Amino acid sequence: MVKDTKLYDILGVSPDATDSQLKKAYRLGALKYHPDKNPSPEAAETFKEMSAAYEILSDPDKRDTYDQFGEEGLTGGGPGGMGGMNGADIFSQFFGGFGGFGGQRGPSGPQRGKDIKHTISCTLEELYKGKTTKLALNKTVLCATCKGKGGKDVKKCSSCDGMGMKFVTRQMGPMIQRFQTTCEVCNGEGDIISPKDRCQTCKGKKVVNERKILEVHIDPGMQAGQRVVFSGEGDQQPDIIPGDVIFVIDEKKHPLFRRQGQDLFYDAKIDLLTALAGGEFAIKHLSGDYLKVEIIPGEVISPGTVKVLEGKGMPVQRHGGNGNLFINFEVVFPPKGFATEEQLAALGKVLPARPALDIPKNASVDDSCVLADVDPLKHGQRQRGGLDEDEDDEDGQPGVQCAQQ
Ligand SMILES: [Zn+2]
Ligand SMILES: [Zn+2]
Repeated sequence: MVKDTKLYDILGVSPDATDSQLKKAYRLGALKYHPDKNPSPEAAETFKEMSAAYEILSDPDKRDTYDQFGEEGLTGGGPGGMGGMNGADIFSQFFGGFGGFGGQRGPSGPQRGKDIKHTISCTLEELYKGKTTKLALNKTVLCATCKGKGGKDVKKCSSCDGMGMKFVTRQMGPMIQRFQTTCEVCNGEGDIISPKDRCQTCKGKKVVNERKILEVHIDPGMQAGQRVVFSGEGDQQPDIIPGDVIFVIDEKKHPLFRRQGQDLFYDAKIDLLTALAGGEFAIKHLSGDYLKVEIIPGEVISPGTVKVLEGKGMPVQRHGGNGNLFINFEVVFPPKGFATEEQLAALGKVLPARPALDIPKNASVDDSCVLADVDPLKHGQRQRGGLDEDEDDEDGQPGVQCAQQ
């Protein structure tokens, strides 16, 4: 859940839009509202808003902050904050091409690096049994040879005061634009090392690339949205506290089972004879085992009956035990003409007697009625509530369904 959808609305995308969808929406907007294409002041304002929205949403770190805290989360200048940039600066950034921000070193001490987020998509079977996945991560780590200093005799760049970034103002038509640019003296490094003193291992870059394998343990019973966090495993950079690597569990839809917390829901089809006279049916469970379930003769399962198998639901993480498995019964009736007249007469002896006709004695009666099959073309059946394709009864109260096939 995102706190606020404003920035998504500006770009006309949904909060779960992918990076490429965001990019596409922004490109389309730019074609329509860019001042070169559309000289009206309203268009300029719209373009400015879209640029600002895109600038935030295209940065995974800022997008994450925005999703969690809304716009307030971005104005504090804290981790992932906008670092005191105002709208005009962002605007000029976009005019000067899609320049990155970089250089978020604020005056408030070491910044925290970006969290790296990955989604792990799991089947319900995997969440039932738990699993361990190994994932390779390419990350930067501080160079061990120079301990992240870049070499010997490192001097702070005096041109940018060690920031690596400088502000430049430039006259563009009637406007004065303020740009943030990379310091050309130190190439954005913030310090200067003479070539002979540069660390051989990292070539003065202070960091090296490393491939790391992370083992992600998914406990039995984990749910969508739960996170497995590897604290401080994000990219290392000098003077930055590394962010976390976060794996977020996503649950794939199962063709047969629905899940609600620790409980499972299953639709079972049984035949009329079993429903009336008892018998057995089987469920292939998420565990891989088959559950053999008995219906006691004479118990009578009506269509829409819900029963429960206690303790056959999802494992409960950490607490042990399992939730319950709710079974919603559908009764499959025999086909048209399944029995002879004599057999039907015999049925009449077994089943409870037909109820009396509910017509008062002196009522006027129309006895010309003939039941016909419904032909949608001829009868133009209206949509009723029962035809809704709202398949998931997420409240766990499966509705009674007609037993028509
Ligand atoms: Zn080094
Ligand atoms: Zn510099």
